[in-house]
Amino acid sequence: MKTIVCPCGNPENHEDCCGRFLSGTSIPQTPEDLMRSRYSAFCRGDIEYLISTLYPSKRSPDDRETLARTIRETQWLGLKIITTGIEEADENMGVVEFAAFYKSTETGQLHERSRFIRESGLWYYLDGQTLDPVKIGRNEPCWCKSGKKFKKCHGRS
Ligand SMILES: [Zn+2]
Ligand SMILES: [Zn+2]
Repeated sequence: MKTIVCPCGNPENHEDCCGRFLSGTSIPQTPEDLMRSRYSAFCRGDIEYLISTLYPSKRSPDDRETLARTIRETQWLGLKIITTGIEEADENMGVVEFAAFYKSTETGQLHERSRFIRESGLWYYLDGQTLDPVKIGRNEPCWCKSGKKFKKCHGRS
């Protein structure tokens, strides 16, 4: 059988990576696991997962509609995790900085520093701060995991 690489970019089978979180078989143990699985949920259009992993006080009645529109209009192309960690002062607060690459009307990048909070053993996405786009080196491997250098792939201009 053909191995389906996980949308989050891990070279693992989707079922062994984010798929087990999306199906509820496993629970993300780290902010990075949750962040990756939420990215995969965006790729797969799993609105219920995105809402259930959003911190309850951050949910709003029009989330479903907003997410559906984002999912319809955006094609996610790749994810690059930049840093991830747990806050020293509070082990139930975590941070993941990432860059997610997408195509809507044109190709763009979402560079965000997201905060995650753990409550009763479950990690939730709390909020995020958008940052200036990350500069990708021309000789770096492309974020789309094509195996090509950035300049020969999505960095071609
Ligand atoms: Zn994954
Ligand atoms: Zn590429």
